[in-house]
Amino acid sequence: MISPQTIEQITNRIDIIDVVSEFVKLKKRGANYLGLCPFHNEKTPSFTVSPSKEIYKCFGCGKSGNTITFLMEHEKYSYAEALKWLAQRYNIEIEETIVSDEVKQVQQVAESLYALNNFAQKFFTEQLFNTEEGQNNAISYLEERGFKEDVIQKFQLGYNPQQRDAFTSAASKQQFNKEILFKSGLVVTRNDEPADNYRGRIIFPIHNTTGKIIGFGARVIGSADKAPKYINTPENEIYIKSKILYGSYFARHAIDKNNECLLVEGYTDVISLHQAGIENVVASGGTSLTTDQLRIVKKYTNNLTIIYDGDAAGVKAAMRGLDMALEEGLNVKLVLIPDKEDPDSYVNKVGSERFKKFIADNKKDFILFQLEILLKEAGNDITKKNDAVNVIAESLSKLNRAEDFTKKQEYIHQCATLLKIDESGLITLVNKYAQNRVEKEEKKQEVEESSTQKNRTDDKIIFQKDEAQEKNVLRVLLEYGLNEWSPNVTIAEYIFEELEQYRFENADMEYLFEVYKKHYNEGLRPSAKTLLYHEEARIRTLVVNVTLFPFELSQRWDEKLENIKVNNLDTSLQDVMMSLNYFKLQKIKKMFEQNQEDMLKSKELSEQLQLMEVHKRLKEIEIEITRQLGAVIVK
Ligand code: ZN
Repeated sequence: MISPQTIEQITNRIDIIDVVSEFVKLKKRGANYLGLCPFHNEKTPSFTVSPSKEIYKCFGCGKSGNTITFLMEHEKYSYAEALKWLAQRYNIEIEETIVSDEVKQVQQVAESLYALNNFAQKFFTEQLFNTEEGQNNAISYLEERGFKEDVIQKFQLGYNPQQRDAFTSAASKQQFNKEILFKSGLVVTRNDEPADNYRGRIIFPIHNTTGKIIGFGARVIGSADKAPKYINTPENEIYIKSKILYGSYFARHAIDKNNECLLVEGYTDVISLHQAGIENVVASGGTSLTTDQLRIVKKYTNNLTIIYDGDAAGVKAAMRGLDMALEEGLNVKLVLIPDKEDPDSYVNKVGSERFKKFIADNKKDFILFQLEILLKEAGNDITKKNDAVNVIAESLSKLNRAEDFTKKQEYIHQCATLLKIDESGLITLVNKYAQNRVEKEEKKQEVEESSTQKNRTDDKIIFQKDEAQEKNVLRVLLEYGLNEWSPNVTIAEYIFEELEQYRFENADMEYLFEVYKKHYNEGLRPSAKTLLYHEEARIRTLVVNVTLFPFELSQRWDEKLENIKVNNLDTSLQDVMMSLNYFKLQKIKKMFEQNQEDMLKSKELSEQLQLMEVHKRLKEIEIEITRQLGAVIVK
């Protein structure tokens, strides 16, 4: 965890215009800045950034938040990653708070693994280039495969010598502990002795998207009969197979620029394509795609083109992951490499330009491609054809985002034609699958909600009209809470006392009020600004909503203030007083109504008299408040 002191240092330095400008072109408009919204497509700018309030809001799609949420939304960072990004930008050293022993241990193991992997990569590269064995066994093989030195250097390839413990003893000399050596997969036990796991193999370091080495793939040289062709790092604290796309670090800018990500199967495919100048390419490592892998792609582009060598098993494995891609809103295209070639051998055979042209000319839409394969398989078999219809309908049902509507209609039309079935029948089937899934989701959500009711991070906080008064009280509390109300009494303290008898109806407002109060009582000096960077998303969203709120109400306020000017109070005090009074009036109105109802129901005289008393008392309070508000009478 990043310490509160560091967070404060970071939030003090934040310049929202500076950060957002990095990603969005902004123009000054009055007190605010305006640009084209990065979260939805628009031609006229409605994305507004307020430097004084440190918030942004799009009046087109409704997205809003602070600098940190902007980085989280736009760059897909976690809260901590966003803070780290800002810390780096402003040269702030990050101080971590004491974390739980468990977390600390995982972090320590991860750090040790990174350090070891880093050492290992240097060792293997050294062995590859600067030893006779490396030159004779590995370099000659790589050259034979067509790899040039610069691309070998770029991908930091290496070689693990034949000797049984060349790496193990080098690492031990560097004081790497045994447990880490085993965990990394670089060292194993053979005949009760620690030994190198990748002896005599070419080493492919695997980097995460930030360029750190998280593991290795080790390939036999030449063809292997007994041994597996590749050995990979076992799952550990930093190597999580489902989250890895090989080459993503080297491809990320090219993917961004081309607005397309090519996906291949193997490490050598990625490296060969890079060498041919095609850099927007990553590898899945041969397994079917996971949601986490698709999300890495989606950070950079919506266009995923999968390049496969044409064997049926590979294609089927690929298709299994692709429904998820549709759900993630990716446009998926497939290309089959002909003649039993793979991308690596094919690009070497035909060269860069022809390869690119081949990809462009042979891209097939995933859904139609899937249908083609299924139909070919089904032949004249009615049952199989029926299955095909269902598979396609289920795939289509996953296109459920509003912006995919036209695409979906078009698909349904094309698929119905290919299947020679009635279009409306297919629509019904697609809808049925969609409906089923919605029901399943809802059930799942109900279960989740009941268990995490308190922790929800609701983006859409909707206020009812009479909750406006509650919101407004929170607004003045956040805005002026730390100012002085009277000597030795802050506005916050005054508000706490004044509201002691009253309750918030809106659970969100009550929560924000309680959090503010808690921070205040702990001496943390809460304000709109500090709470805008609260670790809890629910609080951050509420603060944005509350601070953005004033327009409609405060304008009326101003008009009234114009008319009153009864004393020398500065306007913030007036604002506070009026906000509190309107809040109370609203509550009193409700109490009146409740009291009225009780009176109608009451049959006991003594009770009725008591209720009359309440009525009288409420009236007095109302008159007092109304007097304070000047001539304003709220009905
Ligand atoms: Zn927008």
